[in-house]
Amino acid sequence: MPDLLSFFGQDEDRSRDAVHEGKRAMDKVRELDLEVRELRKEVKRVQSAFHALWDLTAESMGATEDQLRDKMAEIDEREADGVNLLAPELVSCPSCNRKVLLDRKTCIYCGVALRGIKGDA
Ligand SMILES: [Zn+2]
Repeated sequence: MPDLLSFFGQDEDRSRDAVHEGKRAMDKVRELDLEVRELRKEVKRVQSAFHALWDLTAESMGATEDQLRDKMAEIDEREADGVNLLAPELVSCPSCNRKVLLDRKTCIYCGVALRGIKGDA
């Protein structure tokens, strides 16, 4: 009965594919879980740097939390308008494709000359 055999054979292939897909999905989940953990660590570092800066600012300039909140609101508004004064303009290096500051003469990663490249970031 070749028809029946090939039928079961296909069934086996399908379940093997499904198991393979499931394993791939689990790998992806593990990978993303790791990434989330790394990002959480990064957020904690940034938070800690922020708190340190705030403590120093409050101590040395006598700034208040109300002033901090006002400043944060002002920055949120500015960024909502698409203007971010703190973000530097970046270009892609034509050689290594990494992002470098627009006003640099050479790529900090590979050293290639960057003159005449327009911002694309
Ligand atoms: Zn480069």
